[in-house]
Amino acid sequence: MIDDSTSRPTDCFVRQTPAGLYCDPGGFYVDPMRPVDRAVVTHAHSDHARVGSRHYLAAEPSRHVLSGRMAGDADLQWLPYGQTITVGGVTVSFHPSGHMLGAAQVRMEYRGQVVVVTGDYKIDDDPTCQPWAPVQCHVLVTESTFGLPVYRWPDSTAEFASINAWWRQCRDAGKCAVLYGYAVGKSQRLIAGLDDSIGPIYTHGAVEKGNEAYRASGVSLQDTQAVASLSQKPDYRGAMVVAVPSAHGTPWLRRFGRISTAMASGWMAVRGARRRRSVDRGFVISDHVDWPSLQLAVQQCRPESVWVTHGYSAVVARYLNETGVHAIPLEGGRSVGSDDDVDSADDGDGDDQEAPS
Ligand SMILES: [Zn+2]
Repeated sequence: MIDDSTSRPTDCFVRQTPAGLYCDPGGFYVDPMRPVDRAVVTHAHSDHARVGSRHYLAAEPSRHVLSGRMAGDADLQWLPYGQTITVGGVTVSFHPSGHMLGAAQVRMEYRGQVVVVTGDYKIDDDPTCQPWAPVQCHVLVTESTFGLPVYRWPDSTAEFASINAWWRQCRDAGKCAVLYGYAVGKSQRLIAGLDDSIGPIYTHGAVEKGNEAYRASGVSLQDTQAVASLSQKPDYRGAMVVAVPSAHGTPWLRRFGRISTAMASGWMAVRGARRRRSVDRGFVISDHVDWPSLQLAVQQCRPESVWVTHGYSAVVARYLNETGVHAIPLEGGRSVGSDDDVDSADDGDGDDQEAPS
């Protein structure tokens, strides 16, 4: 039975340390925050897959996106979704988290106890990656980037229709549409949702690098051209440019002439975030669970205990406890502001691949 009086993870073979979640019998960390001997990595974003560790284990479908980020001499090991490997007596497997190409939940089983670490995840449709699949477990370690009741995503099909309608308006007004999304993951999902009968699609260099990794992995994307690769400046009127958020407000945009700008992010669900970003439009497209889908995930995984990390941990844990699900916020998890879907002006956008080129 669960001991409700505890304020820390109870009797479990996984524990939180200053370097991140550590599996004692396996001798490995999940998404460590500093270089370690053995890292199990949920996905290729820089705040989860940090460079400098000796050995990495990750899901096979993340091979192209992840190896592009890692130093050439990193020892990388790949495991297909659903297959198991035994590390120090711990059975480890990866299961799709629906967050981006190759993103995985990590399932660990030791002496009959099952712990699942979600990494970043979403339940929404995304044609560029495998969908999230619930994994039954005793302990569910869930992210909570958008763990507030205010975050409820609109239907993404309708949201993509709004993006294309905005692009058409830009074209008809003789403008270039500039759409911001994180370089790897979000941008490819956005491109997959663009109606390329409206006009040509151009990309920021970091976005195109992500496109190449996706295409190399077998994901089909609309035709795109990196702005930096063009020998002659095209007529950008009516075009779509997909760029990283940090390009906003920089001289890099001048080449496009008259532009309209938009940001695609979960943070756009809140009016103030759009104002701080000073973009013309905001579209609510997130690669994380919103409040209702986080609750749904907990129901479907049926854990005895939920550990909440990466965001609004205390709020989510308190709510779950009120609804009869034992939950605790993890100390030392990353705060909102370090994640890939963070794009408010004061929080930054991650730590790499963001410089305009
Ligand atoms: Zn991520």
